[in-house]
Amino acid sequence: MPIGVIVAVAILCIIVAVLSSAQRADEISVETERQMFARAIRNYGTRVLRELESVASSEDAVRNLRTHFDPEWAQQRLGTWLDTYFDHDSVFLIDGYGKIISSHSRWRRPDEAWNALAQADLMPVLQALHNGANADERHRTVRIDNFLNRPAIIAAVVVGRGEAEPVDETSAFSSAPVTVSVKTIDQDVLSDIASHLRIRHLRRVAGSVVPSGDFLYPLVDENGRLIATFAWTPNQPGAEIVNNVVPFLATALAGFALLAAFVLRYMRRTAAAIVAGEKRLHHLAMHDPLCGLPNRAFFAERLEAIIEDVKLGGPSAALFYVDLDHFKEVNDTLGHHIGDELIRNVTLRLSNVLRSQSERTADLVARLGGDEFAVLSQLTGNETITSIANRILAALCAPYAIGNHNIVIGASIGVSLIDEKVTDAADILRYADMALYRAKNEGRNRACLYDAEMDADLSSRKLLEIDLRRAIETDGLTLLYQPLVNASGERMIGVEALCRWTHPVRGAIPPSEFIPVAEHSGLIVELGEWVLRRACLDARDFGDVSVAVNVSPLQFRRADFVSVVERVLAETQLDPSRLELELTESTLLGNFDLAESAMRRLKNIGVRLALDDFGTGYSSLQYLRNFPFDKLKIDRSFVDSIEKAADAAAIVHAIVGLGRGLGMKVTAEGVETADQHLFLRAAGVHIMQGYRFGRAVSAAEISARLARPELYRLSAPETALAS
Ligand code: C2E
Ligand code: CA
Ligand code: CA
Repeated sequence: MPIGVIVAVAILCIIVAVLSSAQRADEISVETERQMFARAIRNYGTRVLRELESVASSEDAVRNLRTHFDPEWAQQRLGTWLDTYFDHDSVFLIDGYGKIISSHSRWRRPDEAWNALAQADLMPVLQALHNGANADERHRTVRIDNFLNRPAIIAAVVVGRGEAEPVDETSAFSSAPVTVSVKTIDQDVLSDIASHLRIRHLRRVAGSVVPSGDFLYPLVDENGRLIATFAWTPNQPGAEIVNNVVPFLATALAGFALLAAFVLRYMRRTAAAIVAGEKRLHHLAMHDPLCGLPNRAFFAERLEAIIEDVKLGGPSAALFYVDLDHFKEVNDTLGHHIGDELIRNVTLRLSNVLRSQSERTADLVARLGGDEFAVLSQLTGNETITSIANRILAALCAPYAIGNHNIVIGASIGVSLIDEKVTDAADILRYADMALYRAKNEGRNRACLYDAEMDADLSSRKLLEIDLRRAIETDGLTLLYQPLVNASGERMIGVEALCRWTHPVRGAIPPSEFIPVAEHSGLIVELGEWVLRRACLDARDFGDVSVAVNVSPLQFRRADFVSVVERVLAETQLDPSRLELELTESTLLGNFDLAESAMRRLKNIGVRLALDDFGTGYSSLQYLRNFPFDKLKIDRSFVDSIEKAADAAAIVHAIVGLGRGLGMKVTAEGVETADQHLFLRAAGVHIMQGYRFGRAVSAAEISARLARPELYRLSAPETALAS
């Protein structure tokens, strides 16, 4: 803007300068023309005087007009001559008494009356001649004056060389005759002057009304009396210059205006682009690029706003902290594009849940990252936390059809209430996180509302972690072994090592409680290595029975896992073929290639691999086909359901068929009853494990049982069945 103003002012200055200098040039030009016109009139006078003098001063004139008066000569050689050759209008010869002796006029034949009129107008020139300041002025003079009401040049010359001498003291006139010639300043004279001076429309005007732009020249006599007014159209070099300059100036102005407009438009566009860019950046900064939902930053802002609102008396709200279950598996097995699509589907469903609920503007669905979402919802009317949570769960757990895949995932929700008791956003988030942990721990696919107990829970978990670390360091853990028997249940062919921890204060803590703590804190690596070493050491007393060791995903994914196994085998001198590692499906997720190469290396050492808990996870055929498992362990839950649900039996049949088809041994876990045993055996299961064949016991007891197998026979009816 300031640049535009400066340039506009500069251009304005240029215009003003051009116009004012043009005006000045015009003024100078008019002044020059005025002076030239005055000089031209004077020059005319001089010429008329000179022409008259050339006749009046001649010897002939003296002889014929002064010494002796010849009227014929006066008519011919004075009047007619000056008229004919020099265009004088009227010529007079006046005697020493001021009386007209002879007169000539080109307009008419002079008579007494005309002469009398003319004589009155000739008086001033004769007076001037008489009053001349010096001899020359008393010899000849010229005036510009009115003659018979016309402006005229009136020249008077004394005949002869000297001045007129007065006849006597009282006479006003000279004794010598005087010639007077009148040249009217008529249109011919004016045209002549105009053509010489190159001025246009030079004319005599009656009044002072002339077209604008024309110049008025008042012709006055020496006393300032107006004789006549002339007018002409002055040359206007300034105007001409302006006329010449204007097109360029106009072009320049137009160019500048165009440029200014262009620059302005460009700047406006740029400004608009910047604003749009800022908006987009802001949007990007506040939204998730994948699904378009508000992101963590946006969510944090809204959470603060809602807390403020609640504190000021607004309705209570709730934060639903949603974590997808099994999303990682989908992402890892089906690829990221399917994972992305799944996230978009989840987004849509979450948004619909909120939208169908109400149009409250404070409500928000945000993606906090990965498979974590947050829903903020005001609680009004009949909407309860439970009903909202249930709707979210129902929406998310329904199957997704993506590509050719039919995908089922679950969700765990931690809920934290935002009411007037809430202090700040950090607390809300912590509470929701704790509630989410609880939901996951209680078996997923559920929502948990935070309560004050959870805080205690969290600190007790922390304490448990500290105690577990000490237990690992001080050999406070024990390892029990559960027998694995052949299909008939008669012979123990292996054992599974199961970790036990007896807390000095709390007593026995089940693995379902301390294994997650170990996994959460990373202690599982040390715990796992301890179990592996203990199991290998104990197994040396178990004859040729194999020993199965559970491996946590965290442990298996470590780059040094295979070398740890090698080292332990070398240290304990256990035959690698007697060691069996039990992996779950989640172990394989993530980097397929790394998992596969680790498994191949273990196979090369001679270690056998079992797929644990089959049927509970993603249960992909791909795992079975791609990974070199020796064994498949049907999860306890199926065995448990055999008698209750028809499809469980069908699934067990299918899994057995699958394992056998792929050349794997199939183990059934959790066999408790004779009927289960019967069914599983009939289905073709190779190996049985469960309370029916023995609970987990100490290494010493396993050794004892191996030494005296007859003491551990199954009860009679089953034996009959088994045989
Ligand atoms: P898992 O690997 O599936 O182990 C089998 C679990 O089933 C054991 O529970 C066992 O006591 C139980 N079980 C065996 N037969 C029966 C039966 O007939 N009926 C019923 N109801 N249960 C039966 P446990 O010892 O409580 O272990 C639980 C889980 O803890 C294990 O499941 C395993 O995943 C984990 N775990 C135990 N020890 C270790 C370990 O040393 N390392 C690792 N990484 N995980 C371990
Ligand atoms: Ca196991
Ligand atoms: Ca198992």
